[in-house]
Amino acid sequence: MVKLHDKYFKPFISAKQIDDVMQRLATEIANDVGDEIPVFVGILNGSFMVVSDFVKKYPKPCEVTFIKLASYEGVKSTEDIQRLIGLTQDLTGRTVIILEDIIDTGNTLAEVHRIFKNEKVKSLKIATLFYKPEAYKKDFKLHYVGIEIPNKFIVGYGLDYDGLGRNLPEVYQIKQTQHMTNLVLFGPPGAGKGTQAEFLKEKYDLVHISTGDVFRFNIKNETALGMLAKSYIDKGQLVPDQVTIDMLNAEVEKNAGAKGFIFDGFPRTNAQAESLDKLMDSKDSQINAMIALEVEDEILVERLLGRGKTSGRADDANETIIRNRITEYYNKTAILKDYYSAQDKYFGVNGVGSIEEITERLSSTIDNL
Ligand code: AMP
Repeated sequence: MVKLHDKYFKPFISAKQIDDVMQRLATEIANDVGDEIPVFVGILNGSFMVVSDFVKKYPKPCEVTFIKLASYEGVKSTEDIQRLIGLTQDLTGRTVIILEDIIDTGNTLAEVHRIFKNEKVKSLKIATLFYKPEAYKKDFKLHYVGIEIPNKFIVGYGLDYDGLGRNLPEVYQIKQTQHMTNLVLFGPPGAGKGTQAEFLKEKYDLVHISTGDVFRFNIKNETALGMLAKSYIDKGQLVPDQVTIDMLNAEVEKNAGAKGFIFDGFPRTNAQAESLDKLMDSKDSQINAMIALEVEDEILVERLLGRGKTSGRADDANETIIRNRITEYYNKTAILKDYYSAQDKYFGVNGVGSIEEITERLSSTIDNL
């Protein structure tokens, strides 16, 4: 990932892919041009990399010149194209090939055609490394297209975001979600995840999603989801994965503008962890860390029985159900430690002590991420 000014970009097209495409374009154009000496015209600024790499691969004599146009402001293509440097040589009777880094709306191309309208060139052809078909609004023919790309802002290999990024040898795409901190708060029932999440969400401006709370809200409101989940929850068992995953996805979607999430009670199985990775990936984001509160079983039972006296939670009222939940955790959920350890994202924190002490320990782990 790279950051340019205020925005984050993710890798999109590698230097090797670009090189292969440039080679293909050079070969194809050389075959079509035959024995003539073409004039390649680069459109500055963006095309300097394309032109440089292209002509190095061009196997026969050629000439190179540039015109300079400007169209982008920030990340948006503007209608208004300025001609900063026009044609500086007579191209009468010549085979001209425009070399563009990207064809977007086609406004720049329209200006190029205006420039060449009164030049008596033998032929004028357009070659572009990148082409955004969804953005293209003109009907000028594009003779040579390197790679078709979706209508998302890209930088690198000559393309910039407000001046930066032109020097990158590969191409990056703007991240859909600009910045996210996503934490999985982990630990057995009664470890204090809910209590700590309340502090952490304030401190780091994150949205707290507790799957247990969402289920209980649905049970209270007697929704279909609540009815379905209740039978499992009352026995201390896990609700089936697909039900939980769908619900979690919906909760994340509801908070599209969030700076990040604290997931509490999710994931609880490998399938859930994989689906969470996919969900984050679809937002160009990721889970940064799983932070686990580590507390011994006997302390957990004691805490949950204590909470059961006031919480009204059926699954806190009875020691057998509590022990069942702890067993479920070790049988099905604790394996997630391996899942996140394998990605170097597991952080264990001692969950025994005062609430403030534990918040302090969690904060220092998060600050060090
Ligand atoms: P909690 O409030 O996290 O202790 O969750 C209470 C109960 O809700 C659990 O014992 C499960 O029955 C159900 N539940 C919560 N989160 C999940 C999940 N990620 N997967 C399956 N069941 C869950």
